[in-house]
Amino acid sequence: MKCMKCGKPAFASVTSEAIELGFGLLVIRDIPCYKCEECDEIFYTGDVAQKIEEIVAEAKMLMQETRVIYYKR
Ligand SMILES: [Zn+2]
Repeated sequence: MKCMKCGKPAFASVTSEAIELGFGLLVIRDIPCYKCEECDEIFYTGDVAQKIEEIVAEAKMLMQETRVIYYKR
């Protein structure tokens, strides 16, 4: 995996992301990512980026006035 910014090698790592939802802050921990050893740029694979979007969408739903939490989760 190469850095999208500078092209240097990037290694697998984990990171946290804080996302402002407008009515609160969502923090996602232990997100698998790649980190550039040169410029510290962090980037995600397509799968991970998609998963983050799903988590954000789910968090928005959960934080609305009516809360529905599925038993199977
Ligand atoms: Zn870089």
